[in-house]
Parts: sequence; structure tokens; C-alpha cells
Amino acid sequence: MDRRVLQEANPAPASANVVVVGAGPTGLFLACELRLAGVNVVVLERSLEPDRTDKAHGTIGLSVRVLDNRGLLERLGRQGLPEAAPVFFYAGMPLSLALLGADNPVTLLQVNHRELEHVLEARAAELGADVRRGWNVTGFSQSEGGVDVVVRTAGEEDRSVTALYLVGCDGGSSIVRRQAGIGFPGSTDEHTVDRSAMIAPSEHVSHGPTLNAAINDAANLGWKLAGAVKGWAPDTLLGTYESERHPVGERVLMLTQAESALMAPGPTSPPSAASSPKCSATPAPSQ
Ligand SMILES: Cc1cc2nc3c(=O)[nH]c(=O)nc-3n(C[C@H](O)[C@H](O)[C@H](O)COP(=O)(O)OP(=O)(O)OC[C@H]3O[C@@H](n4cnc5c(N)ncnc54)[C@H](O)[C@@H]3O)c2cc1C
Repeated sequence: MDRRVLQEANPAPASANVVVVGAGPTGLFLACELRLAGVNVVVLERSLEPDRTDKAHGTIGLSVRVLDNRGLLERLGRQGLPEAAPVFFYAGMPLSLALLGADNPVTLLQVNHRELEHVLEARAAELGADVRRGWNVTGFSQSEGGVDVVVRTAGEEDRSVTALYLVGCDGGSSIVRRQAGIGFPGSTDEHTVDRSAMIAPSEHVSHGPTLNAAINDAANLGWKLAGAVKGWAPDTLLGTYESERHPVGERVLMLTQAESALMAPGPTSPPSAASSPKCSATPAPSQ
């Protein structure tokens, strides 16, 4: 059945255990994780149609294993884990990984962002996640008992969806980040703040290789959030999401910045007289 027909056939959700903002790969993967743990989840996505922008072309390392553990590689038409890459290119420079042998963790899954999103959306729906397209989150308020999320849908009055937890998977210019005051300018952030959590790169690194980290973030957060919702998690468990994933975000930022610096064009001023002989193409007489 057509996605929109299905959406209109189901009554609009007024509440959920968890509201996820954003139906990109991260939000959809998190929704799958939550549904696998039996958590009632609504995903709110402002776009009516899946994103056609050319974004990530692949994911690498642990995130590939995470997708494999959930049987998603098969759904992407891959048979088993891809072979680990013998060479990794950093800032255009080849780094041989041959010495790592069987311990080489650099497994590369070449998958287009759109293809991944399509498979994840189908899987999330199959698992019972309620994915609402054309629902633009415009704000939210937190209380001790939960979160009240304000949504605008085309041609309709604002409506609200209440939840125990809200997770922002809404990309680089995330409203959840801004409104929750989850800030860490210039870096990839993964935070839980009271009733809202964040899995989204900041604008500064959202063009970088952040999909890997986001999938791993979602895998880390999903079961912990499920534990909090279901009431079996100790109070401290959700906090480990930040303590474990925040340092990873910092490393992603550092690597992305270092790579950009290495690939940036050098100074453009003409070489000084003192340095010009070293650059001379004319062989010295003794050579
Ligand atoms: C040009 C480009 C190239 C890239 N190349 C790579 C790469 O090679 N490797 C890699 O790992 N990563 C790459 N990335 C980054 C990668 O695409 C992102 O990490 C990935 O898209 C993150 O997925 P996401 O689900 O977190 O966010 P997104 O894909 O950005 O999805 C966020 C969703 O939230 C929705 N949304 C936003 N605000 C609201 C709101 N208020 N209410 C409701 N919905 C909302 C948006 O419509 C969107 O669908 C690239 C990014 C770009 C832009």
C-alpha cells in the first residue's frame, strides 16, 4: 500500500514512548532498535518524500557489523560481511592495513544514503514504528514526566505528541539541539539531557563521514532507552550513552578537521628568492 495512504488510514498518534525527530538513516535505525526492544515509537519527518540529495556513499567499520547483526546487509542485497579493506585513504593518502591481518576492522559497505534510508524505512514500518511524513517539529517542552512535542502538518493546526523521551535525529541544523540547549559548537554531539537526547552532527561536520558514528550512536542509545522506558535500567544507564559516545564524537571531529587541514590548498604567495633554488627543475652541474 502507498506510504501516504497507509499514514492517512492510521489515526494520528497523540502519544508514544519515544518520539524520534527525523527519518534519515539514524532516526530510522534507532526506531528499528526501539521496536525490536518492544518500545512504542513514532518517527516525525517534515519531508513528504525521502531525501533525494546525494549524501553518504558508504559506511565503514563497526557500523557495518551493527547493520549485519540486524540482518540489514541481506536486505541491502549483500551476502555476508564485506571483506575488510586492505588500504584506507586518509586525506588522499593511502594507509596499508595489511599488517593488521585478520584483526583489520576496516570493513567498508558501499551503500548510497538513499538506498540505506529506503531499506531502513521499510524495516521500521515492518517492525511497527509509526513513521509520519509531512510532520514538521516546531518545538517541545520538557517536564519531569516526559516531553510535549509540537508539530505542524501542512494545512492543519499545530498538534502535539507527548512522549516519555524525545530523540533528535534531525540533522545538522537540528531544532532539538537548539531548543534543548544541547550545544558543543563545531563538534559531533551525542548527549542526553533529561528527557531529550541527540544523535546528529552539528553543521560544522555534517558533510563529513558522520553516518558511521550516527549508526553506532543509535545502536548504543536504543537498548538503553528501551531499558529506561521499560523500567529495568538502573538510573545511571542512560548517562553512559553520553560518557561512551561523546569521546567518539570528539574523535570524529578531530579526524575530520585534520583531514580538511591536510587537504586544504597551501599558501598561495610566490616562493621567496631564498627558497627558489630548491624548486628549480634545472639539474645542478654536478648531477
Ligand atoms: C554532501 C554530503 C556528503 C556526505 N558524505 C558522507 C560519507 O561519505 N560518509 C558518511 O559517513 N557520511 C557522509 N555524509 C554525512 C551523512 O550523509 C550524514 O551523517 C547522514 O545523512 C546522517 O543521517 P541522519 O539520519 O542523522 O541525518 P539526515 O540524513 O540529515 O536526516 C535528518 C532528517 O531529519 C529531518 N528533519 C530535520 N528537521 C526536522 C524537523 N524540525 N521536523 C521533522 N523532521 C526534521 C530532515 O528532513 C531529514 O530527513 C555526507 C553528508 C553530505 C551532506
